[in-house]
Amino acid sequence: MTQASSGSADSRNFLGVAEARAAILDGLSPISGWERVAVRAALGRVLAEDVIAPYNVPAHDNSAMDGYAVRAQDLAASTETSLAIVGTAFAGRPFSGIVGAGQAVRIMTGASIPQGADTVVVQEVARREHDRVFIPTGQKKGQNLRRAGEDLAQGGVALAAGTRCGPAELGLIASLGIAEAAVRRPLRVAFFSTGDEIASIGRPLGPGEVYDSNRYTLFGALSRLGCELLDMGVVPDRPEALEAAFRDAALTADVVITSGGVSVGEADFIRQMMARLGEVAFWKLAIKPGRPMAFGRIGGAVLFGLPGNPVAVMVTFYQFVHDALLKLMGVSPLPPAERFPARADFSLRKQPGRTEYLRGRLQRAPGALSVALAGAQGSGVLSSMSEADCFVVLPEDCTAVQPGDTVLVQPFHGLM
Ligand code: AMP
Ligand code: MG
Repeated sequence: MTQASSGSADSRNFLGVAEARAAILDGLSPISGWERVAVRAALGRVLAEDVIAPYNVPAHDNSAMDGYAVRAQDLAASTETSLAIVGTAFAGRPFSGIVGAGQAVRIMTGASIPQGADTVVVQEVARREHDRVFIPTGQKKGQNLRRAGEDLAQGGVALAAGTRCGPAELGLIASLGIAEAAVRRPLRVAFFSTGDEIASIGRPLGPGEVYDSNRYTLFGALSRLGCELLDMGVVPDRPEALEAAFRDAALTADVVITSGGVSVGEADFIRQMMARLGEVAFWKLAIKPGRPMAFGRIGGAVLFGLPGNPVAVMVTFYQFVHDALLKLMGVSPLPPAERFPARADFSLRKQPGRTEYLRGRLQRAPGALSVALAGAQGSGVLSSMSEADCFVVLPEDCTAVQPGDTVLVQPFHGLM
């Protein structure tokens, strides 16, 4: 990848990605309010308090294998050992006796280790003859046991507050016998599209109109995050209509997200209105696509004014809004930005000074991962997002990419 020596975002009065992210995230703290919900309903929700293990998991030392529970001290070092089988231990049906000298108990996976025994010999290596079992040499004391508390220790933090519950967390909570979890209330997000030319689906397009797609991308992205949605439709570029929409949204929502109307040509009256309603900064971001963006507060709500172009909406959402919403939802720590190197299967020239987010498709190449560009890269070409499975992130100082160069990719997997 070719790099320019100068032309940083700062020197051109644009805000860099890292500065913008920091400016957004630093000022946000989690919403208050939580509720207790049944384990299943905790899926996708954020724990409001630590989940403490009420007892050990597993509760007892148990066998990791089907085999024979024995006493290590009985096993001869250099010859096969013959032991008397005195009973069987099943999972959920323990052997109630004590394993004495020269004795063994047939044991199944998950069964409690009988008193006296300290080692499990797998059935594949043992030879059984009637009520005796022959154990070869080479066994290690304590082998094939799962120790009590090895998964979760009694009194310990099984899951920390701030954890977002996925399938593993639901199972883990259930494994502790806990039926309900304390989770933060869902984040309430109001969103609308702006623009006189924006038409809602369900009616024919007038001359010069385009169908509203941003509200649908945002619906998808916000639903994935488990937000409570307030879809406010399309608002025309009229100051009174916009002001009413902003006031309305800020009244009930924690977050207001809009698209369109923040570029230089349109922003003036929005700027004045925002100054009346709250405190909002209009940024020129050093990114492509998605240069203009507004961020601030109106009333009690956090505002993100995203650009209008459909790809720019998705790029700014996933680079800035997504993690901000996680932080407001109480997710802690925030997941690290998932970026990894891949070999470029394309060539490209680029102006220095902006971080560029291309839409890419990952391919498994021999010994490496390679990435090709997914379709036309215009900021309005939504099909490139649909074809893509990752962003290719080119830093500000990059000026060209040649086939074979190493570039950083941010996979969509787990993000969208
Ligand atoms: P703006 O930032 O309002 O100047 O919009 C930039 C471009 O994005 C224009 O071509 C708009 O028509 C288009 N656009 C804005 N909002 C939407 C929307 N909700 N759905 C689809 N295209 C949009
Ligand atoms: Mg517009």
